[in-house]
Amino acid sequence: MRRTVSCLLVLLLLGCGCFAVSAAEDEPHTHIFGAWYTVTSPTCTEPGEEQRMCEVCEAVETNEIEPSGHKWSNWEETLAPTCTEAGEEHRTCEVCEAVETNEIEPSGHKWSDWEETLAPTCTEAGKEQRTCEVCGAVETRAIEPGHQWGDWEQTLAPTCTEAGEEQRTCEVCEAVETRAIEPGHQWGDWYAVTEPACSAPGENRRDCARCGAAETAVLPVLGHLWVTDPAVPATCTTEGKTEGIHCSRCGAVLSGHRQATLKPLGHAVLDENGDCVLCGAHVKDLCPYCHRDHTAQLFGRLIAWFHQIFYRIRLRFQ
Ligand SMILES: [Zn+2]
Ligand SMILES: [Zn+2]
Ligand SMILES: [Zn+2]
Ligand SMILES: [Zn+2]
Ligand SMILES: [Zn+2]
Ligand SMILES: [Zn+2]
Ligand SMILES: [Zn+2]
Ligand SMILES: [Zn+2]
Repeated sequence: MRRTVSCLLVLLLLGCGCFAVSAAEDEPHTHIFGAWYTVTSPTCTEPGEEQRMCEVCEAVETNEIEPSGHKWSNWEETLAPTCTEAGEEHRTCEVCEAVETNEIEPSGHKWSDWEETLAPTCTEAGKEQRTCEVCGAVETRAIEPGHQWGDWEQTLAPTCTEAGEEQRTCEVCEAVETRAIEPGHQWGDWYAVTEPACSAPGENRRDCARCGAAETAVLPVLGHLWVTDPAVPATCTTEGKTEGIHCSRCGAVLSGHRQATLKPLGHAVLDENGDCVLCGAHVKDLCPYCHRDHTAQLFGRLIAWFHQIFYRIRLRFQ
């Protein structure tokens, strides 16, 4: 019997242990939420609240519901604006009856055209006014006074150095206004007295047709127009030149660049026919036998005569 009881106790303990494991409420898991349900409904301006619950652990998640916002009626004018005073309008929320008011701008006067009520004179200001067609308000302003001037007429002609005068008269009150006419020479065209050169300035001048006064001005220095003269090599019979630089306008030579003349080279070496080996010109007749010049030699004519004979003999036996 004792044995049976202790066996039951063991079974009970084991059973309890199994139940604890299968419940698993504290073990980590992914919540399985039900649908959202409203806890507090939102109003026009206050947010509401909704919740949902995990079907396994009954954990609750809370979420805010946005306020629904007022549902406004149309604007209604409660005070009409006047020309100068602002009016008022309002609207009401159809849900919570909140009221919003708004100012309506004054409409402003509706002015008539300006009408002259007092004509201005030459020296006294006039007046004009206009009226609001809605509220009858009146606005006035001054009209500037002023003479009715005729054209300017010259009363004293100006000279080269003395001012002249002109005047005009008011056609209404005959008031007179005068003003000076600036004096001034009657200048002719500019002309050059001295033309400017490469290294010297020129002078420009104009004369007054009335008093003969003159005015002068400097014409600036032109500066040289440098050009290069190319070098020309000398030949046997003609002169050569070194390179130079000169001004094409005045002929001045740039310092250190004067063109120098090179003497003719002269026929340097002659070949056996007496021709120049450089230019090919025939310079003198040489002895056909010895190819020398016997003219300046002692007994040259005699030697030349013999060499002439030797030359003919050699030609015959060749
Ligand atoms: Zn859960
Ligand atoms: Zn509302
Ligand atoms: Zn008005
Ligand atoms: Zn006047
Ligand atoms: Zn003058
Ligand atoms: Zn020059
Ligand atoms: Zn030559
Ligand atoms: Zn000879």
